[in-house]
Amino acid sequence: MTPKIQKTDEEWRAELTPEQYKVMRQKGTEAPFRGLYTDTETPGTYRCAGCSTELFSSETKFHSGSGWPSFYDVVDHGAVDLHEDKTLGMRRTEVTCAACGAHLGHVFPDGPVTGQRFCINSCALELDPAEG
Ligand code: FE
Repeated sequence: MTPKIQKTDEEWRAELTPEQYKVMRQKGTEAPFRGLYTDTETPGTYRCAGCSTELFSSETKFHSGSGWPSFYDVVDHGAVDLHEDKTLGMRRTEVTCAACGAHLGHVFPDGPVTGQRFCINSCALELDPAEG
């Protein structure tokens, strides 16, 4: 699907940090175990760092050992788009933000509870801590 939020490459470059631009607009991957939210247990909602859409809840976050924040579900299934990704000699499913098209990470069929593991780059997320 075509993302609702359309910005030029220049606009994204100006709004995002160089790391965010590389990951979110050029489908890069941040270094494992280095991301801001890998081990975070703070209750709250994880929003897209590009457009603030709610994507994941701390309630579905778990420690996967992969080195990236991992969730077994999304807040709303319409919030993300899934795409077949055959790059790097692998067959994976890419996850993008449905609203702004940002690359977020990948989803693998080995998570707890739902059987899905959303493996997401920290820099593509912004934690909105729960009140109180
Ligand atoms: Fe977004």
